[in-house]
Amino acid sequence: MSGMSFGVTGLVALVIDDDANVRLFARAALETIGFEVVEADTGKSGLEVLVELRPDVILLDVMMPGISGYDVCAELRASHEFDNIPIIMMTGLDDLESITRAYDAGATDFLTKPVNWELTKHRVRYAIRSSIAFRSLADAQRTARIGSWESTTDQDMLNCSEQTYRILGVPRSEQPSLHGMLANVKEPDRDLVENARQAALEDGTPYEIEYAIGNLDGSEGFIHECGKPIGTKTGRRVVGTVQDITQRRGFEKRITFMAYHDSLTGLPNRLLFKERLAQRLSAAKRHDRRFAVMSFDLDGFKRVNDTFGHAVGDRLLQAVADRVRNCLRTEADLTGENHDTNTLSRSGGDEFAILLSEISAPEDAAHVAEQILDSLKQPYSFDRFMLRITPSIGITVYPSDGTTVETLLKNADLALYAAKRQGSDNYRFFDNELRARARSRMALEGELERALERGDLHLDYQPIFDPVDGRISTVEALIRWQTEALGQVSPEELISTAEQSGLILPIGEWVLRTACAQFSEWLQLPHPPARLAVNVSAVQMHQQGFVQRVTAILDEIEFAPDKLEIELTESILMDDVDANERTFEQMRAFGMSVAIDDFGTGYSSLSYLRRIRPDVLKIDRSFVPDIEKDPESRTIIRAIIAMAHGLGVRVTAEGVESAVQFDFLRSSGCDAIQGFLLARPGAGADIGALIESTPRAIRMLTGRSAA
Ligand code: C2E
Ligand code: MG
Ligand code: MG
Repeated sequence: MSGMSFGVTGLVALVIDDDANVRLFARAALETIGFEVVEADTGKSGLEVLVELRPDVILLDVMMPGISGYDVCAELRASHEFDNIPIIMMTGLDDLESITRAYDAGATDFLTKPVNWELTKHRVRYAIRSSIAFRSLADAQRTARIGSWESTTDQDMLNCSEQTYRILGVPRSEQPSLHGMLANVKEPDRDLVENARQAALEDGTPYEIEYAIGNLDGSEGFIHECGKPIGTKTGRRVVGTVQDITQRRGFEKRITFMAYHDSLTGLPNRLLFKERLAQRLSAAKRHDRRFAVMSFDLDGFKRVNDTFGHAVGDRLLQAVADRVRNCLRTEADLTGENHDTNTLSRSGGDEFAILLSEISAPEDAAHVAEQILDSLKQPYSFDRFMLRITPSIGITVYPSDGTTVETLLKNADLALYAAKRQGSDNYRFFDNELRARARSRMALEGELERALERGDLHLDYQPIFDPVDGRISTVEALIRWQTEALGQVSPEELISTAEQSGLILPIGEWVLRTACAQFSEWLQLPHPPARLAVNVSAVQMHQQGFVQRVTAILDEIEFAPDKLEIELTESILMDDVDANERTFEQMRAFGMSVAIDDFGTGYSSLSYLRRIRPDVLKIDRSFVPDIEKDPESRTIIRAIIAMAHGLGVRVTAEGVESAVQFDFLRSSGCDAIQGFLLARPGAGADIGALIESTPRAIRMLTGRSAA
């Protein structure tokens, strides 16, 4: 059937004609192109079936007894319900007047009788196609909330679409005018809209504007309007669209807010803070003003989170934000200033920053700091308990402590750390001492970077012994840096500099590769140690993909992961447990061991240990000397060993310097001993020789413990 090729199956055509022959031919023609055809022999009966039928196309005779085709057409178009149905009129009269009349009545197309039915198939198909296109455009406009309109020089609006009325919130009118369409535009935007439309009509300037309208329910809506002039000055019209962008505006506002604020406290975040600081900076430079930046955090906040859970921690942060906000407000009110110019922000965790936008002397900032210290130390009461917490505050003043956003913030942080070192619940200004320290730190960073490039770093190794059989069970790699300018830089200083400058990542990798290469050589000896211990900094471990990076390196240098023990300092236990638990699990899944270094110095939580299950605890060397003088330390060490063993964790003691210490630890069940008594850290070659002579070491140990 040729009709199928048109692809119009399922469509309905209504043929209205009093001539049965015409209806017959029309049916034959339309059925071949897949239409279902319904006939009506008068205009009246045609209109009657219309509502039920909702045809996709109408073929309509002009001359009929009763209601004429023109009237049927006009009636149909008057009710806007059938706006989109194509109407093809059939007329015996091919004079211009009847054709014009047909179009005026709303016809889409016309045919002259006698009808050429072959041609008609194509015209019907064409009419359908454009009506579908039109309809989907209308649908699209409806879903995109776009309305279209056209205006003429005399300020009338033509062809306002249904959507235009709805979007602008004005009732449909027979003679819409540009002015009437402004009814709901908010006062401040009215001139903008009027001028734009005017300029488009008079000068032919196209425009694109956004403005606010007031809705009937009192809410506010936003409109995007485009106008495009067509024609020359005399007969110029403007075609335009209006789009309801209220929702988009809402999203935009929300997104902007989220990008610039901290969701927990609603305070500006670091990004917004830096922007405000930059603005303040340039204004202060122009007007020669002073301002202060404060950086503060809460002493021991992590402990609150760990002990009471994140929900309590979050509430505490909110309460702190409220109190500080109030401090800033009173301060501003006292000086009669607009408090909005001071900015309090939360940069993350328990870190906050304040911009005191106008101070006359540093004492003003000190005064605010004192108020904050005072206000925050008052107890916080939650449902069933009270909490206390204190902040530490660092302060920088523009211009003496810095003239860029970065230096002001960095120096405020340095002052904050110094305040903490002085014992918390304190504030401190950035001063000359800190400045000197900051300078030497920068110099050190530069030196360290060059040392890494030039290969000036090296590793020492310290054996760790099994106190029972006297063998070297593990060797720990320790970084060393000897510089011409600075002499020997301690590993602690080196590591903290590297952590702050980001050099810790390449340095950490270098340590891993170098130590593994050395250890592989020792594996060829007759009595090789079981494991190589490598220290890893918290910053390194918290890097995304840390474990993958390590295993990739081990793969590359063909080093068995079960020969590697990663040492992490105890302070790591104060961080996010969930993240740590995952990292530890991954390391163990690859066969590595994990040791908690310097155990006992920080905040040791049993529940943490149970969750992360390290393989080894290294009791910090600060405990060991007390073994000789203090019975309590002996008790503590015994307790740590018993607890660790209870959890299936091995214990190493560090810093063992005397035989008394060694004997006590051995008899207490300590699994491994490290210290100057047995071996100092030494160069790879020396330690290699020691490993080869282990049997001698066994005799030495056994002899000593027997003594
Ligand atoms: P650590 O991991 O606890 O290393 C043991 C420290 O104790 C070493 O200090 C070692 O020389 C020292 N020590 C060993 N036996 C005795 C003793 O009997 N008496 C005394 N007084 N000290 C003893 P060192 O080499 O100065 O390293 C200090 C810290 O620097 C290390 O403590 C470790 O936390 C860190 N570190 C060293 N190398 C690296 C490294 O490659 N990466 C990282 N991230 N940290 C490292
Ligand atoms: Mg260590
Ligand atoms: Mg240690």
